[in-house]
Amino acid sequence: MYANKSIKPRVLVIHTGGTIGMQPSENGYTSVDGFEELVREKLDQSVHDTLPEFDLVELDPLLDSANLSPESWSTIASKVIEHYAQYDGFIVLHGTDTMAYSASALSFQLRGLSKPVIVTGSQIPLYELRNDALDNLITALIIAGFHPVPEVCIYFNGRLLRGNRSRKIKATGLDAFDSPNYPWLGQVGIHIELHSGLIRPAGTPQLAAANYQPGAVAMLPIYPGLPQSVIKATLTDKQIRGVIIQSYGVGNLPNHDKELMKLLEGAGKAGKVLVNLSSCLQAQVLHGTYATSAGLDKIGIVSGGNMTPEAAYSKLHTLLANSTNSEHVTALMQQDLCGELDQSSTSSSHSASSGSI
Ligand code: ASP
Repeated sequence: MYANKSIKPRVLVIHTGGTIGMQPSENGYTSVDGFEELVREKLDQSVHDTLPEFDLVELDPLLDSANLSPESWSTIASKVIEHYAQYDGFIVLHGTDTMAYSASALSFQLRGLSKPVIVTGSQIPLYELRNDALDNLITALIIAGFHPVPEVCIYFNGRLLRGNRSRKIKATGLDAFDSPNYPWLGQVGIHIELHSGLIRPAGTPQLAAANYQPGAVAMLPIYPGLPQSVIKATLTDKQIRGVIIQSYGVGNLPNHDKELMKLLEGAGKAGKVLVNLSSCLQAQVLHGTYATSAGLDKIGIVSGGNMTPEAAYSKLHTLLANSTNSEHVTALMQQDLCGELDQSSTSSSHSASSGSI
């Protein structure tokens, strides 16, 4: 907590869109103007003395997060970077659908944070009488303003989660987010309880919005009967420089599918970065646990360990935006850059690279 309570911390709220600021329309929920007025009305600062001071900026246009792209991740990061020196903490209001992607992408662009960046939103709009928006917003403001959490987090329904470990697990439940492969950083009930041993220490900020290349990364989910045309289209596309393969269990692929294995080997030889991730909610890829994954290292596929798909996808996008050296990128995919990965969870044979991106 801040020692001197007479100086109020200042938080910048960056509103990107999402349910939190939506209203019903003929076409379903859609973003509307006037969100800041509504927030100010609900959080009258002359009354709510315990809140930090805050300013609110809106992205134009406000978007349903289903419409966000990697370029949007860069726009959000740029807003934080532009105002980094002026505020004590940041809140990103965001739709829930792709919140885990954006939170992950922000963590790779905003490394070594010394201030909190808390991503939140809601399942029910603030405009509705019964909502989860007000509590999520108030608690995020208090955490961003008063608590030492120098990382990109998602705060949602009483849970403070590391952004790049988070996943949307429920479409309509208010407890929509969890981090199945990492403990919560904190929980909020009557008290705000933070697990300080799990929270990253303040670092030396290395803040850089990435110049994302559209179409540089693809995800390839593996399932029984996956058509060869889909595999081929993904693995031979020249624009695609990296592929996140979502395999079974601990990283098993249908290795009897000779055509698949040939295409994977060819893609590796052509310089594509190939990362093997599990499609299980809680998992860690360990090549060689079964014969079905024993030969993958040899053909250039590396383990993504226990990263979430959202973290692996946005990490690979960010690394490829910053480097044309696919070996360097492959090595970094196996390294923990900002808490996204348990280092022991990759069978890394590329430990020589520095963590600089
Ligand atoms: N479709 C919305 C969005 O992601 C859902 C939400 O915010 O809950 O923007």
